[in-house]
Amino acid sequence: MSAVILDGKALAIKIRESLGPRAAALKAKRGRPPLLAIVTSERPDKAAVRYRQSQKKACEEIGMHWNTLSADWRGSDDLLRAISGMRDCDAVILDLPLNKSIAIEELLAKLPPELDAEGVTPFNYGRLFEIKAYEELQKRRLVAPCTALAIAELLRSTGVPLAGKRAVVLGRSSIVGKPAAHLLSCLDMTVTLCHSKSSDLPEVVSSADVVVAAMGKPRMVKAAWIKAGAVVIDAGVNDDGGKVCGDVEPEAASRAGWVTPPVGGLGPVTTAMLLSNSVMLAERRG
Ligand code: NDP
Repeated sequence: MSAVILDGKALAIKIRESLGPRAAALKAKRGRPPLLAIVTSERPDKAAVRYRQSQKKACEEIGMHWNTLSADWRGSDDLLRAISGMRDCDAVILDLPLNKSIAIEELLAKLPPELDAEGVTPFNYGRLFEIKAYEELQKRRLVAPCTALAIAELLRSTGVPLAGKRAVVLGRSSIVGKPAAHLLSCLDMTVTLCHSKSSDLPEVVSSADVVVAAMGKPRMVKAAWIKAGAVVIDAGVNDDGGKVCGDVEPEAASRAGWVTPPVGGLGPVTTAMLLSNSVMLAERRG
Protein backbone atom coordinates (compact mmCIF):
# COMPACT_ATOMS: atom_id res chain seq x y z
CA MET A 1 0.00 0.00 0.00
CA SER A 2 1.23 3.51 -0.73
CA ALA A 3 -0.15 6.51 1.11
CA VAL A 4 -2.12 9.34 -0.45
CA ILE A 5 0.07 12.45 -0.42
CA LEU A 6 -1.70 15.32 1.34
CA ASP A 7 -1.45 18.20 -1.12
CA GLY A 8 -1.01 21.32 1.02
CA LYS A 9 -0.60 23.58 -2.01
CA ALA A 10 -4.01 22.59 -3.37
CA LEU A 11 -5.70 23.07 0.01
CA ALA A 12 -3.98 26.46 0.42
CA ILE A 13 -5.32 27.57 -2.97
CA LYS A 14 -8.84 26.55 -1.93
CA ILE A 15 -8.55 28.50 1.35
CA ARG A 16 -7.18 31.58 -0.43
CA GLU A 17 -10.01 31.40 -2.99
CA SER A 18 -12.50 31.61 -0.13
CA LEU A 19 -10.65 34.58 1.39
CA GLY A 20 -10.36 36.68 -1.80
CA PRO A 21 -14.06 37.71 -1.89
CA ARG A 22 -13.98 38.52 1.86
CA ALA A 23 -10.94 40.79 1.37
CA ALA A 24 -12.70 42.41 -1.62
CA ALA A 25 -15.86 42.98 0.47
CA LEU A 26 -13.77 44.71 3.15
CA LYS A 27 -12.16 46.89 0.50
CA ALA A 28 -15.56 47.83 -0.92
CA LYS A 29 -16.89 48.69 2.56
CA ARG A 30 -13.88 50.59 3.90
CA GLY A 31 -12.26 51.88 0.73
CA ARG A 32 -9.06 49.94 1.47
CA PRO A 33 -8.09 46.28 1.61
CA PRO A 34 -7.09 44.54 4.85
CA LEU A 35 -3.52 45.33 5.93
CA LEU A 36 -1.09 42.86 7.51
CA ALA A 37 2.03 44.18 9.27
CA ILE A 38 4.95 41.74 9.07
CA VAL A 39 7.43 42.39 11.89
CA THR A 40 10.86 40.97 11.13
CA SER A 41 14.35 40.98 12.47
CA GLU A 42 16.83 43.26 10.72
CA ARG A 43 18.92 40.20 9.95
CA PRO A 44 16.44 37.41 9.25
CA ASP A 45 17.72 33.87 8.65
CA LYS A 46 17.06 32.02 5.38
CA ALA A 47 13.92 30.28 6.68
CA ALA A 48 12.44 33.59 7.91
CA VAL A 49 13.13 35.22 4.51
CA ARG A 50 11.41 32.30 2.72
CA TYR A 51 8.41 32.44 5.06
CA ARG A 52 8.12 36.21 4.65
CA GLN A 53 8.20 35.91 0.84
CA SER A 54 5.43 33.32 0.91
CA GLN A 55 3.35 35.56 3.22
CA LYS A 56 3.68 38.54 0.86
CA LYS A 57 2.85 36.49 -2.23
CA ALA A 58 -0.19 34.95 -0.52
CA CYS A 59 -1.40 38.42 0.60
CA GLU A 60 -1.17 39.67 -2.97
CA GLU A 61 -3.10 36.65 -4.24
CA ILE A 62 -6.13 37.48 -2.10
CA GLY A 63 -5.92 41.26 -2.58
CA MET A 64 -4.63 42.02 0.92
CA HIS A 65 -1.95 44.64 1.57
CA TRP A 66 1.15 44.03 3.67
CA ASN A 67 3.78 46.24 5.21
CA THR A 68 7.12 45.19 6.65
CA LEU A 69 8.31 46.61 9.96
CA SER A 70 12.01 45.92 10.30
CA ALA A 71 14.41 47.86 12.52
CA ASP A 72 16.87 47.47 15.33
CA TRP A 73 14.17 48.01 17.99
CA ARG A 74 15.31 49.41 21.34
CA GLY A 75 12.84 47.13 23.10
CA SER A 76 9.21 45.92 23.04
CA ASP A 77 7.79 49.39 23.73
CA ASP A 78 9.71 50.82 20.80
CA LEU A 79 8.29 48.13 18.51
CA LEU A 80 4.76 48.52 19.90
CA ARG A 81 4.95 52.28 19.22
CA ALA A 82 5.87 51.50 15.60
CA ILE A 83 2.90 49.13 15.33
CA SER A 84 0.43 51.59 16.85
CA GLY A 85 1.80 54.28 14.54
CA MET A 86 0.78 52.24 11.48
CA ARG A 87 -2.54 53.65 10.33
CA ASP A 88 -5.17 51.14 9.24
CA CYS A 89 -3.24 48.07 10.39
CA ASP A 90 -5.63 45.10 10.81
CA ALA A 91 -3.25 42.33 11.83
CA VAL A 92 0.34 41.76 12.92
CA ILE A 93 2.62 38.75 12.52
CA LEU A 94 5.92 38.51 14.37
CA ASP A 95 8.42 36.60 12.23
CA LEU A 96 10.57 35.08 14.96
CA PRO A 97 13.35 35.23 15.94
CA LEU A 98 13.29 39.04 16.36
CA ASN A 99 16.27 41.10 17.50
CA LYS A 100 17.71 40.22 20.91
CA SER A 101 16.49 43.54 22.37
CA ILE A 102 12.90 42.23 22.22
CA ALA A 103 11.61 40.21 25.16
CA ILE A 104 9.01 38.08 23.37
CA GLU A 105 6.83 37.29 26.40
CA GLU A 106 6.64 40.97 27.31
CA LEU A 107 5.83 41.86 23.70
CA LEU A 108 3.04 39.27 23.47
CA ALA A 109 1.57 40.45 26.76
CA LYS A 110 1.34 43.99 25.39
CA LEU A 111 0.42 43.31 21.75
CA PRO A 112 -3.27 44.21 21.29
CA PRO A 113 -5.14 40.86 20.91
CA GLU A 114 -7.29 42.38 18.18
CA LEU A 115 -4.15 42.64 15.99
CA ASP A 116 -2.76 39.19 16.83
CA ALA A 117 -2.77 37.31 13.49
CA GLU A 118 -1.15 34.21 15.02
CA GLY A 119 -3.36 33.72 18.08
CA VAL A 120 -0.34 33.83 20.37
CA THR A 121 -1.17 36.64 22.80
CA PRO A 122 -2.20 35.37 26.25
CA PHE A 123 -5.79 36.60 25.74
CA ASN A 124 -6.32 34.85 22.40
CA TYR A 125 -4.52 31.73 23.57
CA GLY A 126 -6.76 31.54 26.62
CA ARG A 127 -9.91 31.99 24.53
CA LEU A 128 -8.78 29.17 22.24
CA PHE A 129 -8.52 26.76 25.14
CA GLU A 130 -12.05 27.60 26.28
CA ILE A 131 -13.65 25.90 23.30
CA LYS A 132 -14.67 22.25 23.13
CA ALA A 133 -15.89 21.93 19.54
CA TYR A 134 -13.96 22.92 16.40
CA GLU A 135 -16.95 24.80 14.93
CA GLU A 136 -16.76 27.24 17.84
CA LEU A 137 -13.60 28.71 16.30
CA GLN A 138 -15.65 30.22 13.48
CA LYS A 139 -18.77 30.88 15.52
CA ARG A 140 -16.81 32.92 18.06
CA ARG A 141 -14.46 34.30 15.37
CA LEU A 142 -11.34 33.19 17.26
CA VAL A 143 -7.78 33.23 16.00
CA ALA A 144 -5.42 30.32 16.73
CA PRO A 145 -1.75 29.50 16.05
CA CYS A 146 -1.45 29.08 12.27
CA THR A 147 0.45 25.76 12.12
CA ALA A 148 -1.94 24.12 14.57
CA LEU A 149 -4.88 25.33 12.46
CA ALA A 150 -3.15 24.04 9.33
CA ILE A 151 -2.72 20.60 10.93
CA ALA A 152 -6.44 20.47 11.76
CA GLU A 153 -7.47 21.68 8.30
CA LEU A 154 -5.22 19.18 6.47
CA LEU A 155 -6.62 16.42 8.63
CA ARG A 156 -10.21 17.47 7.90
CA SER A 157 -9.39 17.60 4.18
CA THR A 158 -8.81 13.82 4.15
CA GLY A 159 -12.51 13.20 4.82
CA VAL A 160 -11.53 10.47 7.30
CA PRO A 161 -14.06 10.23 10.16
CA LEU A 162 -12.13 11.52 13.17
CA ALA A 163 -14.51 11.38 16.15
CA GLY A 164 -13.43 8.78 18.69
CA LYS A 165 -10.18 7.96 16.85
CA ARG A 166 -6.81 7.95 18.57
CA ALA A 167 -4.32 10.73 17.81
CA VAL A 168 -0.79 11.26 19.05
CA VAL A 169 0.92 14.64 18.90
CA LEU A 170 4.70 14.52 19.28
CA GLY A 171 5.93 17.85 20.65
CA ARG A 172 4.28 20.21 23.15
CA SER A 173 5.45 23.69 22.12
CA SER A 174 2.99 26.54 22.68
CA ILE A 175 3.00 27.40 19.00
CA VAL A 176 2.54 23.95 17.41
CA GLY A 177 2.14 20.80 19.54
CA LYS A 178 -0.04 22.03 22.40
CA PRO A 179 -2.60 23.96 20.33
CA ALA A 180 -2.65 21.16 17.72
CA ALA A 181 -3.45 18.62 20.45
CA HIS A 182 -6.26 20.88 21.69
CA LEU A 183 -7.73 21.32 18.19
CA LEU A 184 -7.64 17.56 17.61
CA SER A 185 -9.53 17.07 20.86
CA CYS A 186 -12.04 19.68 19.58
CA LEU A 187 -12.42 17.36 16.55
CA ASP A 188 -13.46 14.72 19.12
CA MET A 189 -10.30 12.65 18.85
CA THR A 190 -8.73 10.96 21.87
CA VAL A 191 -5.36 12.70 22.06
CA THR A 192 -2.03 11.73 23.62
CA LEU A 193 0.54 14.51 23.83
CA CYS A 194 4.18 13.35 23.90
CA HIS A 195 7.41 15.22 24.57
CA SER A 196 11.10 14.64 25.15
CA LYS A 197 10.50 12.84 28.47
CA SER A 198 7.97 10.40 27.00
CA SER A 199 9.45 6.92 27.27
CA ASP A 200 7.09 4.89 25.11
CA LEU A 201 6.89 6.64 21.73
CA PRO A 202 6.91 3.47 19.58
CA GLU A 203 3.93 1.97 21.49
CA VAL A 204 1.95 5.22 21.56
CA VAL A 205 2.56 5.94 17.86
CA SER A 206 1.74 2.41 16.76
CA SER A 207 -1.72 2.61 18.35
CA ALA A 208 -2.57 5.97 16.74
CA ASP A 209 -4.93 6.53 13.80
CA VAL A 210 -3.49 10.03 13.42
CA VAL A 211 0.15 10.96 14.03
CA VAL A 212 1.25 14.58 14.21
CA ALA A 213 5.03 14.99 14.46
CA ALA A 214 6.27 18.41 15.61
CA MET A 215 9.61 17.83 17.33
CA GLY A 216 12.22 19.16 14.93
CA LYS A 217 14.03 15.79 15.09
CA PRO A 218 14.98 14.45 11.64
CA ARG A 219 13.36 11.07 10.84
CA MET A 220 12.87 10.27 14.50
CA VAL A 221 9.51 8.54 13.90
CA LYS A 222 10.27 5.17 12.35
CA ALA A 223 8.18 3.78 9.52
CA ALA A 224 7.74 0.54 11.46
CA TRP A 225 5.90 2.43 14.26
CA ILE A 226 3.11 3.63 11.95
CA LYS A 227 -0.21 1.83 12.12
CA ALA A 228 -1.42 0.62 8.71
CA GLY A 229 -3.68 3.24 7.13
CA ALA A 230 -2.88 6.01 9.66
CA VAL A 231 -2.90 9.71 8.74
CA VAL A 232 0.60 11.14 9.27
CA ILE A 233 1.06 14.89 9.45
CA ASP A 234 4.71 15.85 9.66
CA ALA A 235 5.34 19.43 10.81
CA GLY A 236 9.08 18.90 11.21
CA VAL A 237 11.30 21.10 9.08
CA ASN A 238 14.87 19.85 9.41
CA ASP A 239 18.01 20.47 7.43
CA ASP A 240 19.42 17.35 5.85
CA GLY A 241 22.61 18.52 4.15
CA GLY A 242 20.84 21.35 2.33
CA LYS A 243 17.61 19.40 1.76
CA VAL A 244 14.48 19.60 3.90
CA CYS A 245 13.49 16.50 5.80
CA GLY A 246 10.68 15.84 8.27
CA ASP A 247 10.44 14.17 11.66
CA VAL A 248 9.01 10.99 10.12
CA GLU A 249 10.93 8.47 8.03
CA PRO A 250 9.78 8.80 4.37
CA GLU A 251 9.29 5.01 4.28
CA ALA A 252 6.23 5.58 6.50
CA ALA A 253 4.36 6.26 3.24
CA SER A 254 4.36 2.52 2.55
CA ARG A 255 2.29 1.85 5.72
CA ALA A 256 0.25 5.03 6.19
CA GLY A 257 -3.03 5.89 4.48
CA TRP A 258 -2.18 9.59 4.12
CA VAL A 259 1.11 11.50 4.57
CA THR A 260 2.27 15.08 4.17
CA PRO A 261 5.29 15.64 1.90
CA PRO A 262 8.30 17.48 3.44
CA VAL A 263 7.73 20.38 1.00
CA GLY A 264 4.27 21.53 -0.15
CA GLY A 265 2.51 19.90 2.82
CA LEU A 266 1.88 21.90 5.97
CA GLY A 267 3.84 25.06 4.99
CA PRO A 268 1.45 26.50 2.36
CA VAL A 269 -1.58 25.75 4.57
CA THR A 270 0.10 27.51 7.53
CA THR A 271 0.50 30.65 5.39
CA ALA A 272 -3.13 30.36 4.23
CA MET A 273 -4.29 30.14 7.86
CA LEU A 274 -2.30 33.29 8.66
CA LEU A 275 -4.35 35.07 5.99
CA SER A 276 -7.54 33.51 7.31
CA ASN A 277 -6.81 34.82 10.82
CA SER A 278 -5.91 38.26 9.39
CA VAL A 279 -9.09 38.59 7.32
CA MET A 280 -11.14 37.53 10.35
CA LEU A 281 -9.46 40.22 12.50
CA ALA A 282 -10.12 42.82 9.79
CA GLU A 283 -13.79 41.76 9.63
CA ARG A 284 -14.07 41.98 13.42
CA ARG A 285 -12.69 45.52 13.22
CA GLY A 286 -15.35 46.37 10.62
P1 NDP B 1 10.13 23.34 19.77
O1 NDP B 1 11.61 23.09 19.76
O2 NDP B 1 9.61 24.55 20.42
O3 NDP B 1 9.42 22.08 20.41
C1 NDP B 1 9.82 20.79 20.13
C2 NDP B 1 8.99 19.83 20.93
O4 NDP B 1 9.41 18.51 20.60
C3 NDP B 1 9.15 19.98 22.46
O5 NDP B 1 7.91 19.89 23.09
C4 NDP B 1 10.05 18.81 22.83
O6 NDP B 1 9.79 18.26 24.14
C5 NDP B 1 9.65 17.78 21.79
N1 NDP B 1 10.72 16.82 21.59
C6 NDP B 1 12.02 17.05 21.36
N2 NDP B 1 12.70 15.90 21.28
C7 NDP B 1 11.80 14.91 21.46
C8 NDP B 1 11.89 13.51 21.51
N3 NDP B 1 13.07 12.88 21.36
N4 NDP B 1 10.78 12.79 21.73
C9 NDP B 1 9.57 13.41 21.90
N5 NDP B 1 9.43 14.75 21.87
C10 NDP B 1 10.53 15.48 21.66
O7 NDP B 1 9.71 23.28 18.23
P2 NDP B 1 8.41 23.87 17.47
O8 NDP B 1 7.18 23.31 18.05
O9 NDP B 1 8.53 25.33 17.29
O10 NDP B 1 8.64 23.23 16.03
C11 NDP B 1 8.62 21.82 15.84
C12 NDP B 1 8.98 21.51 14.41
O11 NDP B 1 7.96 22.06 13.57
C13 NDP B 1 10.29 22.13 13.94
O12 NDP B 1 10.91 21.27 13.02
C14 NDP B 1 9.86 23.40 13.24
O13 NDP B 1 10.79 23.82 12.26
C15 NDP B 1 8.57 22.94 12.62
N6 NDP B 1 7.61 24.01 12.33
C16 NDP B 1 6.93 23.89 11.15
C17 NDP B 1 6.00 24.83 10.80
C18 NDP B 1 5.26 24.64 9.52
O14 NDP B 1 4.46 25.48 9.14
N7 NDP B 1 5.47 23.53 8.82
C19 NDP B 1 5.75 26.01 11.62
C20 NDP B 1 6.42 25.98 12.92
C21 NDP B 1 7.33 25.00 13.22
P3 NDP B 1 10.03 19.09 25.50
O15 NDP B 1 8.85 20.00 25.62
O16 NDP B 1 10.06 18.06 26.55
O17 NDP B 1 11.32 19.82 25.32
